[in-house]
Amino acid sequence: MDMIDPFGRTVSYLRVSVTDRCDFRCTYCMAEDMTFLPKRDLLSLEELDRVCTVFVEKGVKKLRLTGGEPLVRKNVMHLVRRLSRHLKSGALEELTLTTNGSQLQRFAGELADAGVKRINVSLDTLDAEKFHAVTRWGNLDKVLQGIDAAQAAGLKIKINAVALKGFNDGEIPGMLRWAHARGMDLTLIETMPMGEIDEDRTDQYLPLSLLRADLEREFTLSDIPFRTGGPARYVDVKETGGRLGFITPMTHNFCESCNRVRLTCTGTLYMCLGQEDAADLRAPLRASEANDALSAAIDEAIGRKPKGHDFVIDRRTSRPAVSRHMSVTGG
Ligand code: SAM
Repeated sequence: MDMIDPFGRTVSYLRVSVTDRCDFRCTYCMAEDMTFLPKRDLLSLEELDRVCTVFVEKGVKKLRLTGGEPLVRKNVMHLVRRLSRHLKSGALEELTLTTNGSQLQRFAGELADAGVKRINVSLDTLDAEKFHAVTRWGNLDKVLQGIDAAQAAGLKIKINAVALKGFNDGEIPGMLRWAHARGMDLTLIETMPMGEIDEDRTDQYLPLSLLRADLEREFTLSDIPFRTGGPARYVDVKETGGRLGFITPMTHNFCESCNRVRLTCTGTLYMCLGQEDAADLRAPLRASEANDALSAAIDEAIGRKPKGHDFVIDRRTSRPAVSRHMSVTGG
């Protein structure tokens, strides 16, 4: 039985933040001095597998592991391998992950062996110094080597870049050429007001409508109906022969087609990235070895999925729309 929310949307996509920890501290994502969850609060890998499996039984077709940085969760490949049985059975159409790429050199081969076909790599700049500045702790070379390893292992890669005013706006044409020359799609994302950070989001926010207009001076962009099951809207780029995506939670709210819910590493289910309402799945998960209570809690949560988010970034709105950072819910 499919999961259908009060607005008639079928929920077929689960994103799972397997850890809130990350080996980077991107300035728009986290404060430098973050307090992470105590390890004892985390669901075990077996528990994560159990919740995911119930979601698959209830109609989820696409599962994305994210974080924090999913590849820094200890033994995460154990979870990936366990979940891959649902690919083999045909119940799940896609198992994928979003990563900052820092650990890909180590894990790319194992991911491909487990049936992962494509992954998203977050990369906001190709300038090593700027990369270090925006991630605070990251090393660009390591990420580029990770991308090489992933491609060598046969994984398809989509590069995701958050558009940041005065930081990478001038670099997007170069990143577009670089990604397309390597056979990778590029998707641009508007920064969202999630969690307190050390900077002012108004200074960082760049509407993609402006960026697209800039790109159109140099490139011929044609809208295409291509979709990957997410909110990105794509264009073909005539000059490079590649695809460019736009994720515009701020300038164009795409909630009407929302097909997803998000599970945190502590078993909290968020029905919307941009709302505070959540459901605790850990208690029903641990209350019984049978899955009836867990399944009922999921149904109850889906019944409360809100119509959409209302993110605002402007000088008058100093508080973030939601208090939690992206690393909690999983971007
Ligand atoms: N560590 C992994 C990674 O870097 O892809 C997965 C988690 S990270 C939170 C997922 C994505 O969310 C990244 O592409 C990151 O750039 C993006 N992100 C983080 N904070 C954001 C914000 N406030 N607005 C928009 N995107 C954000």
